[in-house]
Amino acid sequence: MRLSYRCTLCKTENYIKTKCTNRHDLLMELGKDEIHETCKFCSSTNKKHINRLHAEINKAIILISFSVTLLLAILLLFGYGYISFAIFVIPVFSAFDQHKKASNFNRTMIK
Ligand SMILES: [Zn+2]
Repeated sequence: MRLSYRCTLCKTENYIKTKCTNRHDLLMELGKDEIHETCKFCSSTNKKHINRLHAEINKAIILISFSVTLLLAILLLFGYGYISFAIFVIPVFSAFDQHKKASNFNRTMIK
């Protein structure tokens, strides 16, 4: 999961990686209710309140896990037949899990 915020200067979307699953954890991790991030595109410093961060699923990771699974399924196909496609359960579950985490994060606000 990653958090996104829009740069105040150039309006570009920036992303922060986090293991926190909700805003309270993020608050604990940061020790304050604001993040200070440098925009990757214009290098301006952004101050954002935690409540203004938006969680979203990391599409790149999902894409990679689907590709790896596809490769594995094709390899297993020779030994185990079509049952090998059952391993697609794994990336589907991980995608659902990421989506659930992101929506949980977006639902909770800190005071
Ligand atoms: Zn910027």
